Amino acid sequence: MIKDNLKEVESNISKAIAKAGRKESDVTLIAVSKTKPVEMLKEAYDCGIRDFGENKVQEITEKYPALPDDIRWHMIGHLQTNKVKYIADKVYMIHSVESEKLALEISKRAVAVNRVIPVLIEVNIGDEESKFGIKASECLEFVERIHDLPGIKVNGLMCVAPYTENAEDNRKYFKLLKQIAIDITNKNIDNVSMDVLSMGMSGDYEVAIEEGATYVRVGTNIFGIRQYNVNN
Ligand SMILES: *Cc1c(COP(=O)(O)O)cnc(C)c1O
Repeated sequence: MIKDNLKEVESNISKAIAKAGRKESDVTLIAVSKTKPVEMLKEAYDCGIRDFGENKVQEITEKYPALPDDIRWHMIGHLQTNKVKYIADKVYMIHSVESEKLALEISKRAVAVNRVIPVLIEVNIGDEESKFGIKASECLEFVERIHDLPGIKVNGLMCVAPYTENAEDNRKYFKLLKQIAIDITNKNIDNVSMDVLSMGMSGDYEVAIEEGATYVRVGTNIFGIRQYNVNN
């Protein structure tokens, strides 16, 4: 089942890349495995997936030792400062930096384990009250405040677009995220690149690719519907 799902998602990704006149190597699929058991991640791994996205520190620390060490673990969810220390040596990239306090803590913990952790700034692109992230209008200023911290490298932007049944509704948000990245690039800030745009989920990854996504984060369309219990 995972194998067939992956085939379909990967084929849709290829079509979107071709439609946009981009290169296959421009876009990487992150399989969002939150709430899913290790056996399912193993199945995706055996199909060639190496990038996995999780949104809970505890899930990363539990799954990490149970799976091959060439996996790139992406922290994509809200990260509490007091938990950064548990994943600083494990995550490949943190997509969800949305406060100076968090950036400072990641910096401190990265230095402690002798790493430079690539980070993305999470932008609240739909300006939704329920969502984490820096406001679009404050993004540049935020990057300027954190760009010279040791142990982190600002690599781009991430967004979770508003929920919609119609992917086309989110095209304007993906365009906006891309534009913010261009504007920041034009400022030539030290230690900052805007190479990564992490945008697009099960409902809208094709549109996101057409608008410049370099990572798409797909969960449901690979692993099926998630069941949450009181603990997650
Ligand atoms: C859960 C999650 C996803 C994947 O969502 P699906 O709709 O299941 O593809 C992507 N990004 C973030 C930040 C998530 O929390």
